[in-house]
Amino acid sequence: MAQNIIQAVRGMNDILPEDTPYWQELEATIRDVLMAYGYQEIRTPVLEKTDLFKRSIGEVTDIVEKEMYTFEDRNGDSLTLRPEGTASCVRAAIQNGLLHNQVQRLWYMGPMFRHERPQKGRYRQFHQIGVETFGMTGPDLDAELILLTARLWKNLGLDGLELQINSLGTSEARKVYREKLVEYFTANKNQLDEDSLRRLESNPMRILDTKNPEMRAVVEGAPKLTEYLDTESQEHFDSLCSLLDAAGVKYRINPCLVRGLDYYSRTVFEWVTDKLGAQGTVCAGGRFDPLVEQLGGKSVPAAGFALGLERLLVLVRDNLQPDHLPHVYLVLVGEITQQPGLVLAEQLRDEITGLRILTHCGGGSFKSQFKKADKSGAKVALILGDDEISSKTISIKYLREDKPQEIVEQSVLSEWLINYFGGAGLNFSN
Ligand code: ATP
Ligand code: MG
Repeated sequence: MAQNIIQAVRGMNDILPEDTPYWQELEATIRDVLMAYGYQEIRTPVLEKTDLFKRSIGEVTDIVEKEMYTFEDRNGDSLTLRPEGTASCVRAAIQNGLLHNQVQRLWYMGPMFRHERPQKGRYRQFHQIGVETFGMTGPDLDAELILLTARLWKNLGLDGLELQINSLGTSEARKVYREKLVEYFTANKNQLDEDSLRRLESNPMRILDTKNPEMRAVVEGAPKLTEYLDTESQEHFDSLCSLLDAAGVKYRINPCLVRGLDYYSRTVFEWVTDKLGAQGTVCAGGRFDPLVEQLGGKSVPAAGFALGLERLLVLVRDNLQPDHLPHVYLVLVGEITQQPGLVLAEQLRDEITGLRILTHCGGGSFKSQFKKADKSGAKVALILGDDEISSKTISIKYLREDKPQEIVEQSVLSEWLINYFGGAGLNFSN
């Protein structure tokens, strides 16, 4: 490529027209499920004050330590492109008074930014759909979140994801556990990698979250948080398990599941696949009861999850059948057809909601217009030429079927189209 062409930022991808129909269908399917559970959408800015993420995600996390896109704006304020959606959502809920004696079920969607090493399933701009709930403290809500995600996979025709769950207990319980963990890892210091040695000082539980396969043995031998859970968290977790059992959702309790972010408490869960290599987590979430207070609001219980759309799309792309190609390509031959052609197309759009009609612009021969009609993916070409204008008819050429050309009166054209596409099982409602 020529040297003077400016490329996109590394790790940030264009989503091209051949792919957007798949994105749209994926998003629409997810949106329908969210609505089926009464969730409402919230949209927040992609830029926030840096302190928001430092205070919520935690200073000693991968995200805040090394992944954020942080810069000073022209006023010298430190701003950060959101690396995730929870902090913004909580900020917005507090700021707009959505949490006063209210239960909220919210969802969001959009790009997130993390300065990671780009590879398959890991980008610097990626997209998440997430939900955050507020005001519900029980395991029933945790179970609902998981059932909702399970229904997403079902509606997307996706099998083979494994649900892993764990409980992180309360922060008091974690304090005791933390000491045990530091004791254990200090005794096994020689088996820790550089990152884990650093975490041993700052955030030892994060060592359990390591992605380094060489550390698997030492991590598996570590004391389990489950043994140090406070009674209430244990009961909460047991209830969640029975609710999942009752609903027939299979899960694996993974005592090493700690999540990368600091604000979690009690339930954490992940949906994992072995089909995406090292980037196997498709959806991750849990409870973060302390977060609202941590961000300056009145204490309100909260829980949610986020799923990575790029990873999910790789898994379900073949199941999606976006219906996005034009139904009709309008071929306009001859000088005087331009104006009546545009008018006819408008009339058809008025008469048939949902009809996708691609009008040929720019003139040209029959042959070249047919080539374009064929390439467009349309099922039929409507031909308007000088003859059709004078006889108030339209010629119809089938582009995907071996049938002879037809001529119909313009006055019955919309009826003809409704019949033809209705008969082909297409509906115009979307
Ligand atoms: P990972 O362990 O893969 O780094 P994470 O714990 O940092 O993930 P979360 O912050 O929980 O991820 O984000 C939720 C989901 O968003 C992940 O499960 C994943 O599907 C997706 N995700 C996270 N980071 C990226 C990224 N850089 N590129 C693409 N998808 C991502
Ligand atoms: Mg990460």
